[in-house]
Amino acid sequence: MTVTGWNLDNSYARLPKTFFTSLNPIAVRSPKLVILNYPLAKSLGLNVEALRSKDGVEVLAGNRIPEGSLPLAQAYAGHQFGHFALLGDGRAVLLGEQITPQGDRVDIQLKGSGRTPYSRGGDGRATLGPMLREYIISEAMHALGIATTRSLAVATTGESVIRETEQPGAILTRVATSHLRVGTFQFVSEWGTAPDLRILADYTLYRHFPDFDVAPNNYLLLLQEVIKRQAMLIAKWQLVGFIHGVMNTDNMALSGETIDYGPCAFMDVYDPATVFSSIDVKGRYAYGNQPSIAGWNLARFAETLLPLLHVDQDQAVELAQDAISGFTELYHNHWLSGMRAKLGIFNEEKQDESLIDDLLSNMQKYRADYTNTFRALTFDTLKDTVLYGNSEFAKWHELWQERLGRQQESKASSHQLMRNSNPAVIPRNHRVEAALEAAVEKEDYSVMEKLLDVLSSPYAHSTEQADYCTLPELSARPYRTFCGT
Ligand code: AMP
Ligand code: MG
Ligand code: MG
Repeated sequence: MTVTGWNLDNSYARLPKTFFTSLNPIAVRSPKLVILNYPLAKSLGLNVEALRSKDGVEVLAGNRIPEGSLPLAQAYAGHQFGHFALLGDGRAVLLGEQITPQGDRVDIQLKGSGRTPYSRGGDGRATLGPMLREYIISEAMHALGIATTRSLAVATTGESVIRETEQPGAILTRVATSHLRVGTFQFVSEWGTAPDLRILADYTLYRHFPDFDVAPNNYLLLLQEVIKRQAMLIAKWQLVGFIHGVMNTDNMALSGETIDYGPCAFMDVYDPATVFSSIDVKGRYAYGNQPSIAGWNLARFAETLLPLLHVDQDQAVELAQDAISGFTELYHNHWLSGMRAKLGIFNEEKQDESLIDDLLSNMQKYRADYTNTFRALTFDTLKDTVLYGNSEFAKWHELWQERLGRQQESKASSHQLMRNSNPAVIPRNHRVEAALEAAVEKEDYSVMEKLLDVLSSPYAHSTEQADYCTLPELSARPYRTFCGT
């Protein structure tokens, strides 16, 4: 173990050579640490003071390779907006797997660390704004209780990066339980050998499902478990109004963690057709499409596993189809129980779904803010919402109150359930933009630090959070996001 606490193993580097390319990050001119995640560093067994030192920062910028690291860029493929392509880490390097004091194994990856053989036309670099944006939103997701990659640090490089304008270069240190993706299997299925596929599947079991070693049909279990985790993940996204923005198969992690914070954003007004990404012109990855896109991506994963599912390929297809068709119901059950909790409902009634649907259609029709409507229902402050005073909604409210009366739990426990299920704060787009602008334009990180602090306890409902619940001034231009460049 190093002074900093790096305790790296490199199991990925022991996989077949075609799965990756060994290479070092490309050194940068003058690294400077701009944000460091203290609690995460500590949980990884890293010494915060040593990380902040000159040598520590050199590691976070890719100028120094920590002891025990065998850096590499991973190969993968993916369907991007439905079109299959060979991809791979075009601007990221995996330093290795940190073995934490708890004995967990997590990937430590530098994002924005220079060109790799998979860069295609790209420069391999990242800019400060989008790396800080990933830091803010991934940490907010974690605090919301949603599985996600984490952000350990952002360092600027002292070099400028050319996008539409010249931007400060930056490197994000990303932490993930692994970077295995649907696209990793697509890569091996398309370009690897039959033994390669089995090696990758066994490796995925080892990283994420170690208890399955003795199971009779490991690979079917692998498919079913990945489906289960995605069903849970996507339900959680829907429940908080998170729009990923670029659900390509290379951006779907087999761990069930949210990965690749590019054009993502949180929905404000409830509308299933909401899209923020400037490149998603057809709305493929709109809020309301996320569950079906997840199902589509999982079907691509299942296809890669066919040779492992059964010697008889007809039977393999049947097994895969059964597993895939289970996704919709699994997802729906998570979503429904999550929605019940958001409305303070403990028991189950058949009509709950139509009660929920009616609320959502009211929200859509009257252009109500998704997060704030649930907060107003929780705290009975509906007077502040656009729904107040409208008879259709008043009727719904009456039905909801009657519904709450048909369960044993008290009003107080219902209220507590709602508090715990409806966040006070989400990373509102205008707040995130303000934090990024102060950081990038003025090197003022105080706005971002305050925002991160508020976002770290989204269910606190404290008075100091009130400021962060307000909506932006009405703007003529809709909010647009760009692929984290
Ligand atoms: P994404 O849309 O972020 O999932 O990225 C798709 C692919 O483009 C991945 O292979 C990335 O590594 C690669 N990529 C994105 N930005 C760059 C860049 N600036 N230079 C090289 N490759 C990149
Ligand atoms: Mg990606
Ligand atoms: Mg990306």
